[in-house]
Amino acid sequence: MDDFELQRRRLVGHLVSVGCIKTKSVKEAFLNVPRHLFVPEGLMQHSYDDNALPIGRGQTISQPYTVAMMTELLEPEPRDKVLEVGAGSGYQAAIVSKLVKRVFSVEIDGELASYAMANLKKVSAENVEVVHGDGVKGYEKAAPYDKIIVTCACEEVPKALFRQLKIGSLLVAPVGGPWVQELMLYRKSKSGVTGEGHGSYAFVPLRH
Ligand code: SAH
Repeated sequence: MDDFELQRRRLVGHLVSVGCIKTKSVKEAFLNVPRHLFVPEGLMQHSYDDNALPIGRGQTISQPYTVAMMTELLEPEPRDKVLEVGAGSGYQAAIVSKLVKRVFSVEIDGELASYAMANLKKVSAENVEVVHGDGVKGYEKAAPYDKIIVTCACEEVPKALFRQLKIGSLLVAPVGGPWVQELMLYRKSKSGVTGEGHGSYAFVPLRH
């Protein structure tokens, strides 16, 4: 076992012990996706600290704790088609890709879209498609989605995302001000959308 694998196991053990990773499948996904392949080379030695790290372009790879929380809230199922807004490093998409059928991840920054694609290629995440575009519009081409995950902070969830979500499905997004947001879990039903809060987080902002 190499050093990184040892560190990864330790991190996953921590996330399980604090109750953040709850299901066996999510635990397996975390053990099987090498986070060090999603961070800039100079920061690799910090890959398995439970911290967000800069990935360039003023953006960050989310903290593992946050990725685990969001993944669990999404209740991923093997048949799901998932939309992510904010590919960034591609790490969150790689984790979810292990648990569902297909992931579409929209990234507004062209350089980061290429970065995410290259990283996902390293881990052979063939069921992820990175789309360079504005996630505020969702991604109509592959809609509707079984689950949607927004990995940047929004004042309110863009309307297009709820439109592109199937009835009976879930959307996870950090919603609130620029400095702190509430991690919201929304469920869309025939009669509308209901939401519940799951704690405070700080994400980089959704860009318009
Ligand atoms: N999920 C990422 C975390 C990304 S940080 C990971 O696992 O690494 C948030 C990302 O959202 C940034 O890359 C940022 O460029 C992107 N973003 C911001 N506004 C966006 C928009 N309107 N559409 C798509 N992506 C957006």
